[in-house]
Amino acid sequence: MNPWFTPTSPPPTVTVVRRPLSDSELDIVRARIHEDAAGPYELVDAVVTAVFDALLTDQGVTYRDHRDDALFDRNNYAIPVTQWTAIVTTVTDRAYTWGAAASAGMNLAALLPASYDDPAVPTPLLTLVDTQPHLVRLDISRDATATVAACQQHLVDLADAYGTDSDLYRVAAASWSLQLTALISAPPGAHRVLHPDGPLSLYVSTDDAGHYGIVFDPLAPHCTVEGCHAVAADGQWQPSHRDATVIDHEHQPSHPADGPQPGRWEARP
Ligand SMILES: [Zn+2]
Repeated sequence: MNPWFTPTSPPPTVTVVRRPLSDSELDIVRARIHEDAAGPYELVDAVVTAVFDALLTDQGVTYRDHRDDALFDRNNYAIPVTQWTAIVTTVTDRAYTWGAAASAGMNLAALLPASYDDPAVPTPLLTLVDTQPHLVRLDISRDATATVAACQQHLVDLADAYGTDSDLYRVAAASWSLQLTALISAPPGAHRVLHPDGPLSLYVSTDDAGHYGIVFDPLAPHCTVEGCHAVAADGQWQPSHRDATVIDHEHQPSHPADGPQPGRWEARP
């Protein structure tokens, strides 16, 4: 049998769509990039769907009709390289939130239509114009990581010395936790850098308000006897303030001067 005369079905008509996305189509893509996605896979899928839905609309079909179709050739569709690049870079930045920038970028590049060069098509702005970036930047200098570890170790020492149920430990732990929370709940877009500033204190430079310190303020030993307001300073007992009552007795220190120092971390301008 002559293979040249083997009857075959006629080749399917290939529709080629090659055009820029319109402004309104780009608005939808932008919205898909910035809406809440469950993860990088969902983000990529939503963006690819928006792009192909736009290109397929003239054929009266949606991407959903084709997504799992093995014969669907993405390279029959193309958008200008300016738009293509803007989509990939914006999605990659967005996926950075999940630590998935590289994989999301590669998945997206494989799933998007092809691109063609058309210098007349401007690069669209796909970042959010009026809202804030997704990321809070916190950089920690190498020396500051040692200080952070020292602060954590200080809390462990306080727990060992006074117990985790003690006020001395709990006040310190709560104040440390508060300062860390304030650091990482800085306004999105803020960029903070953490520097060491003494054995248990840190210096935070910010791009919005200048700088502030996270300073460990040690608590001086005080007498625990009711009605006595003596505090120890430089090895001497003295009134806690000018008119404070100090009983003439053997004071009972709240904690030894030579143990781990209780105290609290405070933000100071
Ligand atoms: Zn006393």
